[in-house]
Amino acid sequence: MVNFSEASLETLIAKGGHECACGRRHEMVMDYLSICPGAVKNIPAGLKAIGGTKPFIVCDKNTKAAAWSFVEPVLKEAGIPYTLYCFPFDHVEPDESAVGSLTMNYDPTCDCVMGIGSGVVNDCCKVLCHAIGKKQMIVGTAPSMDGYASNSSSMILERIKVSLYNAAPAAIICDIDIIKNAPMRMLWAGFGDMLAKYVAQCEWRISNLVTGEYFCENVAGLMRTSLKKIVANAPGLKNRDEAAVQATVEGLVLSGIAMSYAGISRPASGLEHYFSHLWEMMALDRGTDYELHGIQVGVGTLLTLKLYDIIRTMKPDRKTAEDFIANFTNEEWEAMIRKIFGQAADTVIMQEHTKFHKNDKDRHAARLNKIIDHWDDILRFIEEELPETAEIEKLMKDLGMPMVPADININREDTENAFIGSRDIRDKYLSSSMLWDMGLLYTTKLPE
Ligand SMILES: [Zn+2]
Ligand SMILES: [Zn+2]
Repeated sequence: MVNFSEASLETLIAKGGHECACGRRHEMVMDYLSICPGAVKNIPAGLKAIGGTKPFIVCDKNTKAAAWSFVEPVLKEAGIPYTLYCFPFDHVEPDESAVGSLTMNYDPTCDCVMGIGSGVVNDCCKVLCHAIGKKQMIVGTAPSMDGYASNSSSMILERIKVSLYNAAPAAIICDIDIIKNAPMRMLWAGFGDMLAKYVAQCEWRISNLVTGEYFCENVAGLMRTSLKKIVANAPGLKNRDEAAVQATVEGLVLSGIAMSYAGISRPASGLEHYFSHLWEMMALDRGTDYELHGIQVGVGTLLTLKLYDIIRTMKPDRKTAEDFIANFTNEEWEAMIRKIFGQAADTVIMQEHTKFHKNDKDRHAARLNKIIDHWDDILRFIEEELPETAEIEKLMKDLGMPMVPADININREDTENAFIGSRDIRDKYLSSSMLWDMGLLYTTKLPE
């Protein structure tokens, strides 16, 4: 069996995948991957690997300014023809308008798409490639999120934030010479999105124990090893140190591979991501601005680590949990969901009644038994997976990152509502779900 945490990137994306002790075969469908200083020189090799001869190149004003002077000479020297489309706006939203622009400007004599950018450009190109049936290469410009190698695109569809499942880019080129010069906020965001992986492994194990959800130790190990390397190098991010940026970018790409291996987002996200999702949904509902995903996630991670420091001191009490569930009513729950979710409430309520059934009393009883019987194991997972809160706090502070919700203009009420609503967005078992099962979610005082 291949130990993923010791495997090279080439091995991880090898065709045919790898048999694993968890009983599954893990495969990441990707033709080409290059992460290093000077990686743009590999663009011709990457195009060859995906069978592309004439790319439709997509960028925006910022990513063009960051990378075109690196990319153009390589294309010229290799004699590669292309059609370039640069979004003519200062700010591009990943919505119908952006994908519509790409579709209307698409040159059908091209045989593949080359995105130059990070989150938004990559996501819009995923949607375009899915629609036109072509392969995508992405030339990364910033380490701001872990979506480079993932098949989901985070889009705004009919004014609601959704994840669309398309195809992951067939080739990824991350040139550290370009990426290390990304805006500092984007370096913070990538680091923030990686810090989430501590919580992710912890909650994946808790869910495996409490709900019986699938878990793979080998995939979790891959994320732990990458995280160790990133955190060890983190102080260097401040000076855009190559090793620090390289480790972060690798970690972000590995997260995509790990999610693809697991077939779920578990290896990459836990409660911290739900703070971010809720804050973003609230902003969309109100038509207000919101922070970069990874920066929100960094703030959410620190908050979640502080919450775990409280959970460590708890002990589940059967009577508290049973009294809570005996007094629980669907009417009160729906009213609370309406207050928290605004326009998205109908969907959240419908999901619970038709698909999730997590408020069901019998299911609650089964989960509660597991929690009570295995509380020592849960405390051990927390001990094994989570770093010292003070250590992460110090790293973030030294980098100058936003650390608490107020730093990114989020008030206490929105944070408390995000915490309470976190278990209701998807059917994913989080620490907040466990507190609900213990009858404590609505009474636990969230740390500042
Ligand atoms: Zn496995
Ligand atoms: Zn993320």
